[in-house]
Amino acid sequence: MLATMASGDGGYPQGGSLAFAKRMADTFTAMGGEIRYQTKVHGIVRENGKAVGVRIRDKILNAPALIVTAETLAAEKLLDFPITDPWFLKLKERAKPTNCCFIGIGLQTLIKEIPGFVLDEPIAIGPHVYRSLGFHCYTQNPTYAPEGCTAVTTTLMGDSYDYWKTAKAQGRYQAEKQRLADEVLGALCRHAPQIEGHIEVVDIATPLTYESYTGATRGAWMSTLDVGQSIPSCPCTLKNVQSLYFAGHRTLLPGGLPSALVSGRRAAQMVCRQFGIPFQSKQNK
Ligand SMILES: Cc1cc2nc3c(=O)[nH]c(=O)nc-3n(C[C@H](O)[C@H](O)[C@H](O)COP(=O)(O)OP(=O)(O)OC[C@H]3O[C@@H](n4cnc5c(N)ncnc54)[C@H](O)[C@@H]3O)c2cc1C
Repeated sequence: MLATMASGDGGYPQGGSLAFAKRMADTFTAMGGEIRYQTKVHGIVRENGKAVGVRIRDKILNAPALIVTAETLAAEKLLDFPITDPWFLKLKERAKPTNCCFIGIGLQTLIKEIPGFVLDEPIAIGPHVYRSLGFHCYTQNPTYAPEGCTAVTTTLMGDSYDYWKTAKAQGRYQAEKQRLADEVLGALCRHAPQIEGHIEVVDIATPLTYESYTGATRGAWMSTLDVGQSIPSCPCTLKNVQSLYFAGHRTLLPGGLPSALVSGRRAAQMVCRQFGIPFQSKQNK
């Protein structure tokens, strides 16, 4: 990451994640693409061993080819049969979820840096015990917070999906989120007392939040492999279903934005090959 940043090839997206996604959406629509927001796909329609469309509630939207970009393991639910292709089974066996609790804090004051610190009292989320905290202050990016304010984030890594799922089932979800917010903010204010009285907003995303927004298995946004495991290579097609392609972070482990983008480009190339159209990137046009 340091090498990428130092060479000028990596950085923070201007305007944050939303502006980043919007730039891609704008490029797509400018090239003639159409996006239907707030439209959940309920199934993939097959005819004679070929994907021919998607089912949206009781309506069918026909398509000559489909690229499934929903998280690949969860996408199995869109089919009316279990996937038995070896690449999919290997992926299922080897891809362990990378997920987290992500805490975003809005401060009504300018803070340049909060050095990481060891906690007096550890913070627990189920079996995961955190003994130190580190924070990102996005002071250098004027698009992340109003003038004079600072956006601060911290990430508590670990698969706490089951913990939050149980809390939700027992009606304790909101209370547990509040408990986590209180413990993190309490520790932060003790460590950096100049923050006290300037906290405007706090937002916590748990693995359940990611699951509800993206549909990904256990709310994972990347994958981890056990030590010694090799990365399964994903052809991203199924032997028994033509015209169907998969893309997204799970198809190119360990995932992340570059993997998701590259897999999308590869899927577009496969669609071009299906129709005998030469693939051209936007820059080459
Ligand atoms: C806190 C955090 C920090 C991160 N930091 C980095 C980083 O520094 N660098 C990096 O490279 N990556 C990072 N990542 C990971 C990166 O954001 C993801 O790997 C990437 O966004 C995955 O993209 P994707 O298109 O595969 O999946 P998604 O972005 O999850 O897109 C899948 C889309 O499919 C939609 N969908 C699912 N099911 C259906 C359905 N049935 N019908 C219709 N739509 C459906 C979902 O709503 C979603 O919009 C981070 C992630 C998090 C959460």
